[in-house]
Amino acid sequence: MLDVESIRDDFPILGIKANGRPLVYLDNAATMQMPLPVRQALQYHYEQVNANVHRGTHYLSHESTKAYEEARETAVRFLNAPSQRNIVFSTGTTGAINTVALGLRDYVQRGDIVVATVLEHHSNFVPWQQLCLEKGAQFKVVGIDQKGDLDLDELKRVVTGGAKIVACTCCSNVLGAVTPVHDVVKIAHEAGALCLLDAAQGIRHGVLDVQELDCDFLAFSGHKLGAPTGIGVLYGKSKALELLKPAWFGGEMVDIVTTEKTTWEELPLRLEPGTPNYVGAIGLGAALGYLEFVGRKEASAYEDELIAYAVKRLSEIDGMHIYGDPIHRSGCVSFNVEGVHPFDLCTLIDKMGVALRSGNACAQPLLSALGCTAVARLSPAFYNSFEEIDAAVSTINRGALMLRN
Ligand code: PMP
Repeated sequence: MLDVESIRDDFPILGIKANGRPLVYLDNAATMQMPLPVRQALQYHYEQVNANVHRGTHYLSHESTKAYEEARETAVRFLNAPSQRNIVFSTGTTGAINTVALGLRDYVQRGDIVVATVLEHHSNFVPWQQLCLEKGAQFKVVGIDQKGDLDLDELKRVVTGGAKIVACTCCSNVLGAVTPVHDVVKIAHEAGALCLLDAAQGIRHGVLDVQELDCDFLAFSGHKLGAPTGIGVLYGKSKALELLKPAWFGGEMVDIVTTEKTTWEELPLRLEPGTPNYVGAIGLGAALGYLEFVGRKEASAYEDELIAYAVKRLSEIDGMHIYGDPIHRSGCVSFNVEGVHPFDLCTLIDKMGVALRSGNACAQPLLSALGCTAVARLSPAFYNSFEEIDAAVSTINRGALMLRN
């Protein structure tokens, strides 16, 4: 059992007032709040350790490099990656996926097939679409069934014919639909394709073991699990990372530079050009440690209970339309109330202290498949309480009534 009360003590922001009302923060699929131990780790680094990594001979540079590489080791353990070679620090999920898509610009040729799913966030959709447009490759998008679950039969049909890459989310940031990632990876591999998993949402929901998953790449962002913004991880199998042609060039990622040519540093540094966001990485290491301390399985199971409760309570609202009814919903629920624009609703309930997201959730292809252009999204984290869900639901109800009359 999670001790939510004492967990909340680690998140002072949850105690503030928003627009004069006690804050009910339910926008965690966008960004999770930062616990005190992460802030303390950042502060300690700036106060006691700070120096550029890898380059210096002096004490602080050694200490800073040690802390940076320890954060990499924490990510290795968190994902059960084989080694530090397999963990590339990126700016976030978007940065990681672009590193892969751009890195595969010679690997994907005219006529090749690249597959994504309609569940994808734009950051695991547009990079592949653009790569295909540039290379004259075929971009195929796998659909979902009535309940919002990925259509695995369609995936099987689409990959046969020689797909080169399958890009799939672990969990939809709109429907909360958890995808059968083991099946997705297997189907991709049987077709000879590389498989990239977007774990931006999935990382906090359950335990992802990259060796057991057997995916070729996996990407996630720190800010969705309590780390600072601007830091994330690209995991890759060594062979998969070796395929990537660097897209950004500069210091640190090179081995020998002459006037004629340049050779690259070993992995992972060849994919981390310039001064890395080492303080961000240290914050990420602290956030991963914090999640371990809270209990990853327990936190994720509790979040599933919160989301199931939210779905049940939201359904009681008159005119409520909840999108999808997936086999396993995790992390978020999106909805619309008949006759009310989600932007108006979320703006109004914000005045009553309730923070939800409204808009297209960076998933326009999915929203078109669902037949809408905008949704309201409620996404709890393990520090939220059932009482907060109740408060949010009654505020949504009140807001909807006010806007309809
Ligand atoms: N994929 C999914 C499923 C997401 O939810 C998000 C963030 N909303 C992203 C990718 C992009 O993450 P970031 O903006 O941190 O790069």
